[in-house]
Amino acid sequence: MIMNQEEFNNIRQNLELEKTRIEKALQGVSHADERDHVPGEHEPTFPDYGDDNATELEDNSPNEVADFARNVSVTGDLEHELERIKKALRRLPEGDYGRCVRCKKEIPLARLKVYPAALYCLQCAQHEGE
Ligand SMILES: [Zn+2]
Repeated sequence: MIMNQEEFNNIRQNLELEKTRIEKALQGVSHADERDHVPGEHEPTFPDYGDDNATELEDNSPNEVADFARNVSVTGDLEHELERIKKALRRLPEGDYGRCVRCKKEIPLARLKVYPAALYCLQCAQHEGE
């Protein structure tokens, strides 16, 4: 990857910011899974809106169930994205960053600036449905 120090620093900064943003978002929809102590594993949070009028049978209100389903889906998406960012951050100092993992061509810098966690070039992204 041919980029100057400033571009390198900008991309790393973008990745770090994105990582922080996603970790914060994950805290909103999930909690660290303490049962199996797997780092990076997030258990979607089941919301409890504490409706005092609900009977025991109705304790899990439709809203809670719907929001839990949303949390499960959002948690999955965020974890997926977080993994990509961590991968990009690992590849950055190795000089492997910015190279399409599918066709090994360099990903245009313009694309990396918009989407620093990109693993594929534009052509391959279409193939992989990125
Ligand atoms: Zn490619």
